[in-house]
Amino acid sequence: MKQKITVLGSTGSIGTNTLDVVARHPDQYEIFALSASTQVDLMLKQCAQFKPRFAVMASPAHAQQLADQLKQNGLAVQVLDAPDALETIASHPEVDAVMGAIVGAAGLAPCLAAAKAGKRLLLANKEALVVGGALFMDTVKRHGATLLPIDSEHSAIFQCLPEDSSTWGERVDCLLLTASGGPFRQRDPATLSEITPEQACTHPNFSMGRKISVDSATMMNKALEVIEARWLFDMAPEKIKVVIHPQQIVHSMVQFKDSSVLAQLGTPDMRVPIACGLAWPERIASGAPLLDFAKLAALTFEEADAKRFPGLHLSWQALRAPEGTTTVLNAANEIAVAAFLDRRLSFDRIHAVNLQTLESVQPGPVASLEDLMALDARAREQAQAIAAQWAR
Ligand code: NAD
Ligand code: MG
Repeated sequence: MKQKITVLGSTGSIGTNTLDVVARHPDQYEIFALSASTQVDLMLKQCAQFKPRFAVMASPAHAQQLADQLKQNGLAVQVLDAPDALETIASHPEVDAVMGAIVGAAGLAPCLAAAKAGKRLLLANKEALVVGGALFMDTVKRHGATLLPIDSEHSAIFQCLPEDSSTWGERVDCLLLTASGGPFRQRDPATLSEITPEQACTHPNFSMGRKISVDSATMMNKALEVIEARWLFDMAPEKIKVVIHPQQIVHSMVQFKDSSVLAQLGTPDMRVPIACGLAWPERIASGAPLLDFAKLAALTFEEADAKRFPGLHLSWQALRAPEGTTTVLNAANEIAVAAFLDRRLSFDRIHAVNLQTLESVQPGPVASLEDLMALDARAREQAQAIAAQWAR
């Protein structure tokens, strides 16, 4: 039996890489549904290639455009644009696995819907877990869903940890998340204010979406990943460490009580963790080139510079603060990054917006998706106001 897959965010960097892996194994996987925000042309191509039952667009106008073009091309794909359409395709009874590859908090509701329906959930959308926190993990457990990390660091840690998660607490000394350090690892901190969106979106090893590219450049991506690791592996924040490794060959490591360290290595290609998540515990070809050890230059490691990357430490700070603080941090960062990409905020002030929003928004109860979305909205409003004060 083929596994039926829903890809949330199919037109993005992770979405297209997922379809690349799926296309290599037509005997094992078929696409049940695809979703995108506004990219009608790419969605049309994906529909022609994968013939899903459903395609979801974020607005009625884009849904109408897609429906018209599908009709012109004689393709029988049902287009949905209802507010809960993402939840529908994430929880549909016929779906086996859901790839969560939407960027930002917008992906939380459909990921929770997949979890509630007990699906196999492949999670790239780290913001969903940073916003959802304990509620997200409780939902996964309560409904018997299988959560498989796609973020390369978390996929690495997942592969290095013992199978029996009840042993992690006693056996593991710490998780070592590796970080590339992004394009400004060696840049003079005094010149950070001059960085343009184009410079920030040019990552040394990967082509990624614009939001995560900026997050990699500020290292807020690693801050979000520390929070992601805390929830995925139920690890105390002080047992999660970050080390810079510019070559991105070692994707992360687990250090055990006896000082032994296990690492997962591979070429920096997101199809590796995607293939791992799709097939786990089996292994399938990902299409990524093999690591050629004869050609590898040195693998180097260094400490992250807190002056250059002040945002990194907000993760531990937010994890020690009342629940919901990570939701506030994520919302602030989404607003600050959007303002930077819009050229309304300078690069070095992304951190100022994050810090001030954390200081001025007190999280209330976070017992439901509605609570979380209300807190997210409140934090966004506050972050907008702060970003406007810091505007160029
Ligand atoms: P991207 O910007 O390339 O793609 C985002 C996708 O989500 C697109 O299909 C877009 O249409 C859709 N989308 C955006 N906003 C939406 C909204 N409001 N409602 C519905 N759909 C929406 O992003 P990406 O680089 O593929 O990253 C996706 C997620 O995976 C992010 O959470 C990112 O942190 C994570 N991730 C990405 C990489 C990578 O290499 N790109 C690596 C690890 C983790
Ligand atoms: Mg990552």
